[in-house]
Amino acid sequence: MIIDRICDSDDYRREALRLGGEQVHTQRGLDVFNPYTGKRVGTVAMASVELLQRAITIARSYRPTLSRFERAAILQRAAALLRERSAEASDLITAESGLSKMDSLYEIGRVCDVLGFGAGEVLRDDGQVFSCDLTPHGKRRKVITMREPLLGVIAAITPFNHPMNQVAHKVVPSIATNNRMVLKPSEKVPLSALYFADVLYEAGLPPAMLQVVTGDPREIGDELLTHPDVDLITFTGGVGIGKYIASKAGYRRIVLELGGNDPLIVMDDADLDKASDLAVQGSYKNSGQRCTAVKRMLVHQAVAGAFTELVVEKTRRWRYGDPADPANQMGTVINEPAARLFEVRVNEAVAQGARLLTGNARERALYAPTVLDQVRPDMAVVREETFGPVSPIITFGDVDEAIAIANGTAYGLSSGVCTNRMDVATRFAQELHVGTVNLWEVPGYRIELTPFGGIKDSGLGYKEGVQEAIKSFTNCKTFTLPW
Ligand code: NAD
Repeated sequence: MIIDRICDSDDYRREALRLGGEQVHTQRGLDVFNPYTGKRVGTVAMASVELLQRAITIARSYRPTLSRFERAAILQRAAALLRERSAEASDLITAESGLSKMDSLYEIGRVCDVLGFGAGEVLRDDGQVFSCDLTPHGKRRKVITMREPLLGVIAAITPFNHPMNQVAHKVVPSIATNNRMVLKPSEKVPLSALYFADVLYEAGLPPAMLQVVTGDPREIGDELLTHPDVDLITFTGGVGIGKYIASKAGYRRIVLELGGNDPLIVMDDADLDKASDLAVQGSYKNSGQRCTAVKRMLVHQAVAGAFTELVVEKTRRWRYGDPADPANQMGTVINEPAARLFEVRVNEAVAQGARLLTGNARERALYAPTVLDQVRPDMAVVREETFGPVSPIITFGDVDEAIAIANGTAYGLSSGVCTNRMDVATRFAQELHVGTVNLWEVPGYRIELTPFGGIKDSGLGYKEGVQEAIKSFTNCKTFTLPW
């Protein structure tokens, strides 16, 4: 967006880095604009490489000693504080991301869930005990396993699309396991991350356990990825950056949660009203900016006409506009260039033979929910990840073809399947090359506790979700003793 004159919003925030309990301001700042109003919502500090190194050193030199009880109490208190402030916190998410109040309030609820599950997991001992006299050459000993925090620092890098919840999915397991983290949130939505960190400090988190460093990734990214004191990089974001991180990280653990191109598959026996409800919700919630949004609708040709009519009708009823208006279901996408890209992809698909049924109207970063049919799998709108409220409909003739199309992109994150036939559902469960298959749900369905993550270009198969993140954020040590 070209801004002639910077106009600040009423609750403009000037923000600092969070380094070991200190708020560190910098000369240079990074402005954050409301994608709907164009007003400046805040300015965050722009860390230099030296300040990033300071953050890592603070984290590395601190040894957390919180008991399980204390960690659980901090997480529970943070959940209570955030619940009390959900109106303010969701306003901030909406202001910096353009997500509707409906979406941002929902997000706050999810963050509270993450905190609650984190508190619950801390109280559950995750050690195992093995007896050793199991074979003729065994001994009367026992092996006890325990999970320890990493020796070094965790570097966390988060994307823009869930400004607070993506951050919570990194920070909460780190606290739960007594680790120390340096968080670099998305430069597009850094204010929600800082807000969340402050809630945690207020709830009693020792500040050295979480540093928040904002800045230009091109300037500080490499140092974060290669610093010898960083033991683990946990990244959620696009495939391009994810693969770059993999190439830079060298000999250290990496957890990558990358893009998706998830199908909703609708079979000929499906209840089309229910299936089309899932289709529009999966496509437009969070402005279509979810790694697990429905990015392709694969529909059996026998029901494609009727299904498409329902999707078009429900898309036209999807209320979108001013994100701050609580009646709107959808706000803007993250910025104007993103909205322009959807226009380009949709126009290109139409030029190649797809049919535009509704939408593809744009006003700055506001992009109308859009339905296209007669889409072919080779068109860029479905071959690539189109990270916005676009519903491309592709038809298929049988289960084999549906599976081939579904598996035919570089991605493998999640999927949704609408059928009541168990034989068909189990084929999809077995043959889709993805991390999740949801029967009669959107691909994005999950709870914050359960394993979540993709394969192929969507990730390396290591999962997130509070329980799995706790595993990847810890070293498993065994202690054996005569017993
Ligand atoms: P992005 O890849 O552009 O940015 C993600 C983060 O990487 C940001 O914090 C950015 O500052 C940082 N970054 C950029 N260059 C870097 C560098 N050289 N070194 C270190 N860090 C660098 O992603 P985005 O546009 O913010 O988010 C959208 C993408 O995230 C989509 O592809 C979406 O599918 C994906 N995503 C995946 C999941 C998942 O769990 N699989 C969840 C949400 C979003």
